[in-house]
Amino acid sequence: MPIVEVKQLIKIFGSDPKRALPLLEEGWTKEKIHKETKLTVGVNQATFSIEEGQIFVIMGLSGSGKSTLVRLLNRLIEPTSGQVLFNGSDVLKMNAEQLRKFRRKNMGMVFQKFALFPHRTVLQNVEYGLEVQGIDKTKRRAMAMESLELVGLKGWENSYPDQLSGGMQQRVGLARGLANDPDVLLMDEAFSALDPLIRKDMQDELLELQSKMKKTIVFITHDLDEALRIGDQIALMKDGSIVQIGTPEEILMQPANKYVERFVEDVD
Ligand code: ADP
Ligand code: MG
Repeated sequence: MPIVEVKQLIKIFGSDPKRALPLLEEGWTKEKIHKETKLTVGVNQATFSIEEGQIFVIMGLSGSGKSTLVRLLNRLIEPTSGQVLFNGSDVLKMNAEQLRKFRRKNMGMVFQKFALFPHRTVLQNVEYGLEVQGIDKTKRRAMAMESLELVGLKGWENSYPDQLSGGMQQRVGLARGLANDPDVLLMDEAFSALDPLIRKDMQDELLELQSKMKKTIVFITHDLDEALRIGDQIALMKDGSIVQIGTPEEILMQPANKYVERFVEDVD
């Protein structure tokens, strides 16, 4: 059984969003829907599943719906229609308490802006999320230390964020996401703000982490090279729709249509 299953997931932004559903059924484009109704299609009829231990990449240009899709997975955004299943159970049926627990234990998130507290040490930054979750002091220290070691920041616990390079700060963000060992880690453009060289190092480290931990990772990027390098599966999005899902080889060698063909054209 896949760990995450998404069925016919739709998110429309605007007032009375369900108005757009019959239009999507009829095959109206995002542009036409916006022109006629002022509604914005965020995600259009997304269907896919993620196997445990995979790095599942969501790729696409800016505005194609990547962040909306990933936020639908842990219900930071409520869908207009469709289904999200985690290990077979319906995420959309959870109450507030179940949802909090779900986000903590099952679907952790690393954000693009790593948003570290400048006046807290590296260790305190990683501990903070655990503290909010009510984990006691001794336990959270141990969890935070383990997580920092995992991302190669042992020895930096007592430094402050501004004493660290951008790459190291992003590692602190990653350590924070990993600290409570969620089943699935969602990473929204987590490396996009980094210099190309550091970014490559982080990709390597993520792959190494992955081979050690076998964690399921949903990784969002607008960068094709990054997607090809780290993805087990890649979903390419355009205007809210997934235009192709496949392995890097399939995306490169068997593009589903002209759009994918053009998207991968420049890769050598
Ligand atoms: P990406 O992450 O791929 O850049 P987004 O998921 O942020 O794309 O956006 C997808 C589409 O949904 C865009 O057209 C964007 O303008 C629109 N959108 C995203 N969030 C909102 C919102 N809160 N209100 C209205 N429109 C939104
Ligand atoms: Mg985004």
